[in-house]
Amino acid sequence: MARIFGEIAGIPPGTPFANRRATAEAGVHTPHMQGIAGSQTEGAESIVVSGGYEDDEDYGTTIVYTGHGGNDAATKRQVSDQQMTKGNRALAISGDRGLPVRVVRGAGGDPAHSPSSGFRYDGLFYVDQSWEEIGKSGFNICRFRLVAEPQTNATTNPPPAPPAGSATKAYASTQRLVRNTAVTEWVKRLYDYTCQVCALRLMTAVTPYAEGAHMRPVGKPHNGPDTAENVLCLCPNDHVLFDRGAIGVDASWNVVNLKTSTVLGMLTIHPQHKLSATHAAYHRRLFP
Ligand SMILES: [Zn+2]
Repeated sequence: MARIFGEIAGIPPGTPFANRRATAEAGVHTPHMQGIAGSQTEGAESIVVSGGYEDDEDYGTTIVYTGHGGNDAATKRQVSDQQMTKGNRALAISGDRGLPVRVVRGAGGDPAHSPSSGFRYDGLFYVDQSWEEIGKSGFNICRFRLVAEPQTNATTNPPPAPPAGSATKAYASTQRLVRNTAVTEWVKRLYDYTCQVCALRLMTAVTPYAEGAHMRPVGKPHNGPDTAENVLCLCPNDHVLFDRGAIGVDASWNVVNLKTSTVLGMLTIHPQHKLSATHAAYHRRLFP
């Protein structure tokens, strides 16, 4: 059966299901047991959030989701390390490709955002970050920040069902959200829009273009500050590689390949730019 990324025809957000068998039969989330449906090559199409993992955090339109593996079903505690493989890798691929992920919440999840019984389809979310960290029980866990599709109030006010005959909902996605603030603009100007990693100064038809990259990510659960000491001026390519954990900066401000620890070069640092080694280390720890 072909994987369906996006809405299932006739199943609007807010649709309740009595049990996992019903979500499977509707095609909303096809596996009966696993929390992540997907493949390591194509990406993940759906997840179930039902409180099975002690590290999960549900903020409604943002979910910090724990990958699968290594937990004890009875106690929900982690008893061994997770790896970025199988369903976890599938979710990371959905993030890299901007694929929508159907989110099903179960009654076992955070009471503020979960159905009181059974399961509920809560709409499309996008994986905007994936990383690894040490969870509450001391084991490595794979983590994913999912954000609700814009304009979908996924949990509190499900939109009404689409009119008959137009149940197949077209979707558009934004693959990357580049935050521009007064602080990122200040950093970019300091470098005259020149990448601190590769020295590229990208010219559009009208202006030089660079992006401000927060080393410790802003927003939940990282809550990195939007301050100059946490922001790098990068070209779009190096910004993607940095955010997705391919490159980082070490304690000596070398640019390193985080998978191999190979030093790729020195980060260019302007004398007026005080950078935080703490935030650089936080970023490195996200991609062990
Ligand atoms: Zn660059």
